[in-house]
Amino acid sequence: MTTRTALREALSVVSPVACAGCAAPDVELCTDCRVRLEPAVRSRTLVTGLRVVSGLDYEFEVRRAVIAFKQQGRLRLARWLAPALRAALAEACPPGAPPLLIAVPASRAGLRRRGFDPVGLLAREAGLVLAPRLLKSVVGAGGSQKHRDRVQRHRDRLGSLRAAADLTGRRVLLVDDVVTTGSTLLEAERALVTNGATVVGAACLASTPLTGRRL
Ligand SMILES: [Zn+2]
Repeated sequence: MTTRTALREALSVVSPVACAGCAAPDVELCTDCRVRLEPAVRSRTLVTGLRVVSGLDYEFEVRRAVIAFKQQGRLRLARWLAPALRAALAEACPPGAPPLLIAVPASRAGLRRRGFDPVGLLAREAGLVLAPRLLKSVVGAGGSQKHRDRVQRHRDRLGSLRAAADLTGRRVLLVDDVVTTGSTLLEAERALVTNGATVVGAACLASTPLTGRRL
């Protein structure tokens, strides 16, 4: 037995590895689940006309892998998730000069709980250059989003973000990890438009497959 094998066996006793998508033993992400994380680009349009392009459907193995990455801190999954974000961005980018890429900020509570910023990490892994800290959470705004319907969630979100600079004349593309109702993206769009930006679209890693149109 080599030292490396011995070390891996010792570690696997401490922290057994299972596939992040299907829980198959002894593998970070199995071959089948790697295939499931290949980009499946889809687009939907929110009530303001904002076009949201996602790289994956947020369900089944994909959903479990994203949760393992975001909530369980399995950061090595970023390399398997990044291609989907890259594909969504390629589809979301309109012709013309490249827009400014602005990430939807993680909530302070989320950052504290996880200790890392999922969107920032995914973007780096995907080779995207995000504009730094142009959207900020407003302290004290918004509450828990659990157990609330879509209208209530949107109302709660209103005023929870602000743009940290004058963006007059700037074209902006929003970047996010998981989109469910779209209420956070709408709030980000509102905050940016308030400061003069034109929001040309949004690219996200995954979205719940409600009404999306497969491309
Ligand atoms: Zn698997």
